Amino acid sequence: MPVDVRTCQTMAEAASMLSGDRTATLLAGGTLVMRDVNEGRITDGTLVRVADPAFRLVSTGGGRIELGAGTTMAMVLASQELVFLHPAARAIGGPAVRSAATIGGNLFAEAPYGDFTVALLALEAQVTVQAGYGGGRTTPLEEFLAARERGRQQLVTAVSFARPQSAGALRFCKASRVRPKGISVLSIAAYLPMSGGRVAGARIAYGAMAPTAIRAKGVERALEGRMLDAATIEAARQVAGEGTRPATDAIASEWYRREVLPVHLGRMLAGEER
Ligand SMILES: Cc1cc2nc3c(=O)[nH]c(=O)nc-3n(C[C@H](O)[C@H](O)[C@H](O)COP(=O)(O)OP(=O)(O)OC[C@H]3O[C@@H](n4cnc5c(N)ncnc54)[C@H](O)[C@@H]3O)c2cc1C
Repeated sequence: MPVDVRTCQTMAEAASMLSGDRTATLLAGGTLVMRDVNEGRITDGTLVRVADPAFRLVSTGGGRIELGAGTTMAMVLASQELVFLHPAARAIGGPAVRSAATIGGNLFAEAPYGDFTVALLALEAQVTVQAGYGGGRTTPLEEFLAARERGRQQLVTAVSFARPQSAGALRFCKASRVRPKGISVLSIAAYLPMSGGRVAGARIAYGAMAPTAIRAKGVERALEGRMLDAATIEAARQVAGEGTRPATDAIASEWYRREVLPVHLGRMLAGEER
């Protein structure tokens, strides 16, 4: 049976098709799905496209920002309201990939991909998922990632998060062996709001340090309520590896990832690496 492509005019129609047909796969930007088709990993079933304009809606008006799951990295880069996400969007492949790659697809990209999701995790984003014609359900991104491998494919319609305290409060770095567009050895996002010169509500996330993006809770505890000085940064470096389960792959070994993580974390916290 050949691969069939169906275009849905509404998100509800697409969600219903995904939940009702085991062979259905959502085709967003297609940077990963079309590779699977071209390389023979997907040989039959239905590719579901979403034509609903709401799927690509970018809403930055209020204190809460909502991005349709079909928003591309290029669209993020075109928005001055989303300037704090530009380093993460710019870290995804080259210009051709960024013009197609969506933020929704990035949530499903397997490590060491998934760099943009790391920034969303540090922003404590919520993911809206729609199953069938019923309404959407909102889940914290951390829970969504933990459950990602289980169950049937559901349509992610949007991602939302509170506007950061300031554009500079979100830091992002990606370590790769090939510049400017290599695959991640690891990536780190740090949301570091300050109050009275001390860190208040730090959220640190890693990419490529576990099967999905993860929060670095030990580091967050080490930073909380402290000034961001050399002693605090050293305390954070000491617990950098807590909870990590990096893989060995073509880009780096597990050992190498563990070795370089505290180095990049320390430089980022010191403001030397972005
Ligand atoms: C040359 C190249 C370089 C790359 N470099 C990077 C990089 O540096 N960093 C990085 O993170 N990634 C990279 N990628 C991977 C990929 O481009 C990105 O992760 C991208 O964000 C995936 O989005 P997409 O829209 O293309 O996903 P697609 O290929 O359309 O979909 C990927 C998977 O997600 C599912 N999916 C997509 N959207 C939804 C949704 N809304 N609801 C439910 N399921 C959905 C699809 O069904 C599929 O299983 C690269 C890819 C290529 C080909």
